Amino acid sequence: MFYWPVGWNDWTWLLLIPALIITIWAQARVSSTYRKYSKVRVSSGVTGAAFAQTMLRQNGVSGVNIVRIKGEMTDHFDPKNGTVALSEGVYAKDSVAAVAIAAHECGHVLQHEKKYGPMKVRGALVPVTNICSTIAFPLILIGIIFSGFTVLIDIGTWLYLAVVIFQLVTLPVEFNASGRALQNISASGVMTETEQAEAKKMLSTAALTYVAAMLASFLSFLRLFLLSRRSR
Ligand SMILES: [Zn+2]
Repeated sequence: MFYWPVGWNDWTWLLLIPALIITIWAQARVSSTYRKYSKVRVSSGVTGAAFAQTMLRQNGVSGVNIVRIKGEMTDHFDPKNGTVALSEGVYAKDSVAAVAIAAHECGHVLQHEKKYGPMKVRGALVPVTNICSTIAFPLILIGIIFSGFTVLIDIGTWLYLAVVIFQLVTLPVEFNASGRALQNISASGVMTETEQAEAKKMLSTAALTYVAAMLASFLSFLRLFLLSRRSR
């Protein structure tokens, strides 16, 4: 990403300031909410890993391993090796945050099992997005340096659109996983109503990261688009 101005009259880089602010704000909100609900224990005493086991079993899912991994909020589901990886603060902890996050990752397992459309689209977009985002900026840079190649700025800009689309498709996948998580938590009876409301708060705040990433990538695209128009 070009965080610096391109040319003396380039004001488009200013668009990256709100992008940066949104990203930092979302990260801070997620961290503080996680810290808060990591301290609130679930009265039933169920741990993240134990709830994940229950949720998968109750949905008739077999052959998915639940493993412990290092780090904070590094939790994820890897459909390639059928593994739900839960972080240290989630795996063996009986907090509202731990159970909510474990349930969210199992929500991704259920999406995979039920062949949830947006998840399939997102999976298919991963390699495309990687290629597009890798070559977009070198192309734009060449277009900026060599005035005869301004068409490369256009090409790079449209390639970058793949990143925005990817972030956009990520949103329904994330919201749906949280929806499935809360539904299963409610049905299993492991949380009181107050705890369920807290779990919902935890998961909707966590989703802010994805909304922020989408907005930031859109602002970056808008910046590139304006640059490409100016270069003509
Ligand atoms: Zn997720």
